[in-house]
Amino acid sequence: MDRPHIRIFDTTLRDGEQSPGCSMNVQEKLRLAQQLDRLGADAIEAGFPIASEGDFEAVQKIAAVVRRPIIAGLARACTLDIDRAWQALKVAAHPRIHVFLATSDIHLKYKLRITREQCLAQAREAVRYAKSLCDDIQFSPEDATRTDIPFLCQVVETVIAAGATTVNIPDTVGYSMPEEYGQLIRTLWEKVAGIENVTISTHCHNDLGLAVANSLAGVQNGARQVECTINGIGERAGNASLEEIAMAMRVRPDRYPYEHEIVSEQLYPSSQMLAEITSVPVQPNKAITGRNAFAHEAGIHQDGILKNPLTYEIMTPQSVGVPDSRLVLGKHSGRHALALRCQQLGHNFERRELDEIYRRFVVLADRIKRVQDSHLLELIHDLANGDFAAQAKKHPQSAASAVPLPFAASAAAVADSFPFHMPGIAGHGPRTNSFGEHHSEQEDYLWGV
Ligand SMILES: [Zn+2]
Repeated sequence: MDRPHIRIFDTTLRDGEQSPGCSMNVQEKLRLAQQLDRLGADAIEAGFPIASEGDFEAVQKIAAVVRRPIIAGLARACTLDIDRAWQALKVAAHPRIHVFLATSDIHLKYKLRITREQCLAQAREAVRYAKSLCDDIQFSPEDATRTDIPFLCQVVETVIAAGATTVNIPDTVGYSMPEEYGQLIRTLWEKVAGIENVTISTHCHNDLGLAVANSLAGVQNGARQVECTINGIGERAGNASLEEIAMAMRVRPDRYPYEHEIVSEQLYPSSQMLAEITSVPVQPNKAITGRNAFAHEAGIHQDGILKNPLTYEIMTPQSVGVPDSRLVLGKHSGRHALALRCQQLGHNFERRELDEIYRRFVVLADRIKRVQDSHLLELIHDLANGDFAAQAKKHPQSAASAVPLPFAASAAAVADSFPFHMPGIAGHGPRTNSFGEHHSEQEDYLWGV
């Protein structure tokens, strides 16, 4: 029997970017969009083109460069927004205009100051206008889960008749419960004329920690698209986490008999890339991609894992792209191991770039013995900013010895994460280091592998 296909709509670059501290520039958004493409997302919401020049430019750039997935741009239900979104999107191989309008009484009365009748008319006109520009139209009744259900059905029916091809049902304020949200999707299926011709989508916020549960309940009741973000970032408590949705379906196909196109080995690289770009670290106990997601500390667990991983692991770290923790990166690691780890973290370097990273890596490894992913990402970040290359050219030796302590904002936290003692941190006195000496010793090795 064919399993229904669930479309993964990633909104890390739009809703995710609305998280405090998560704004990204055009280049960073493009890099992440290319990673989302490798990850296998069916659709990428690249931004909100009317919001700013930067957003417009990012959507346009992504639309031009990332050709496989659908590229969506957000627009309020007015011609100005829709025109701007279309301007940015029209170069895309698969453009989608995403129009939204609030439908709950509380939003109509206090925010938009319009009646339900005006809301219906505005939604109809906006979708008709967008449809005159683009075939693929998604409509979202904002605050759908707090909207009067008969009125919500009326709005959905109206926008389908006007040409919407996807109807997204946002739990904008993260208020819904799984059974309730599932029932809402079921009601739309049962009550709305023409619903069988469109895709119903979920968009759940995590204010009560239920975004993933609600999204899955939506899928079980007929939704065939899930909106989600890497690391679950987004407004306030965030959106449904892409990695959790993807792996819940992979690990429990008995409960969720659906297919999706996510390349699960790219989950960890995507998570790491986002954390690196935004400098917002992943919480250690984050499901699937957190530092501790596959760590086993209790002796009895370690014993079980060594005898058979199935005792305490429901999926392998490798299946979600977490590097094998037994492969420790230290000063004896070669360029191949380094290149592989960089790839696992979402970076594919050309030879010259890798040379730069490797030189600096060896110096750091000499100093801290064991190089963690966070350190490596810091080196990569420096290289991306160009300061390392510039420094290295000017003062080869001082550049090498000026390696900053990665994420040194909290020295105690850094020391805590190190498996070995570090000079100058947490009560261990400074010790002399022989970077230059070591560097020259290793020169042949550096360039020969
Ligand atoms: Zn949202």
